[in-house]
Amino acid sequence: MKKDDLDNVRAEKVMVPHWVRGEESLEIVPSGQKLAMLGLGNSIATPAAGITADTVVVRSFDELEALGDRVRGKIVVYNAPFTNYGATVQYRLNGASRAARYGAVAALVRSITPVSLQTPHTGAMNYDPQQPKIPVAAITIEAAELLQRNYDRGDPTRLRLKMEAKFLPDAESANVIAELKGTERPDEIVLIGGHFDSWDVGQGAHDDGGSCIAAWEAIRLLKELNLRPRRTIRVVLFTNEENGLRGGTAYRDAHRAEIAKHIFAIESDSGIYRPEGLGLADNSPLLARANLREIAKLLSGIAADRIAADGGGADIGPIMREGVVGANLEVDGSRYFDIHHTHADTLDKVAPRDLSLCVATLAVFAYTVADIPGSLGSN
Ligand code: ZN
Ligand code: ZN
Repeated sequence: MKKDDLDNVRAEKVMVPHWVRGEESLEIVPSGQKLAMLGLGNSIATPAAGITADTVVVRSFDELEALGDRVRGKIVVYNAPFTNYGATVQYRLNGASRAARYGAVAALVRSITPVSLQTPHTGAMNYDPQQPKIPVAAITIEAAELLQRNYDRGDPTRLRLKMEAKFLPDAESANVIAELKGTERPDEIVLIGGHFDSWDVGQGAHDDGGSCIAAWEAIRLLKELNLRPRRTIRVVLFTNEENGLRGGTAYRDAHRAEIAKHIFAIESDSGIYRPEGLGLADNSPLLARANLREIAKLLSGIAADRIAADGGGADIGPIMREGVVGANLEVDGSRYFDIHHTHADTLDKVAPRDLSLCVATLAVFAYTVADIPGSLGSN
């Protein structure tokens, strides 16, 4: 960013949680057949000898509740088919504590994905402080279906789960910021960005490295084209979206005095696929919505002119709750959850043309909003 001669390039220190996976394995007892697995982020370890227990397989929380105390001493396996991310991810986020409430000794979660080539998907989980902590890992769709078949015919699989996962002391990281300074109202800000942390498996190319590159490239391109808007466009590469949201929270805290000067924020965190437009938060002011619809027409040539509902983002969530109008870059996400949080989220999955179209979409929205002579209608 400095080499590109962008303005006010800086790193703003953020202390982040430091979870490490360690060695981990899952095998069928007594055959020793290994099942592909990935511990979930924030999980605790098993004892060194592992946890060996029979499985109870449920397709939903309702099935778990119906079994109640009958899961005591067992490994609960959630075999919930993918419907959409928001609904299905509840098993990853809350499955361990929901099972621990009834005395389960560990939990396994079918990966949050519609398809699988023996690929487990990791991701963050949360412990309910009211319940005992038990270790939890993701398994593949194939493994979940195998365990389901055995359970359904009255022959539950016995498994040994070994995990070394643990937290180390908080580590120093940073939000990385660069700007294209505005000409007339440099103190007013249009924020674009994503998060540059990713899971320890894969490269985090789609989640969310590509978005960071797209936002950075958008202002580099505007600068190269000598297009400098009235307001400042600020690129923020947030740290620690994945297991704590410390970057987004720290940004809000460090910039409290200028939150009211943020006239718009766009977060990209759905993969770098063909862009479709923006998703705008449902409570956005009507005038801002109308203006964004007009601006979107500039992108009809690449079919990125949609203003979708229910928008926003995790990293910009803290400033949106302080009143900033926020949106997400909408993309064709039909393949995103094939590779999300897996070893397969690597750069070869990013199509250069899609990346270029995302850059164009971010650049057009950011520049045009930042250059509006009057108000976007956001404040
Ligand atoms: Zn992400
Ligand atoms: Zn992620």
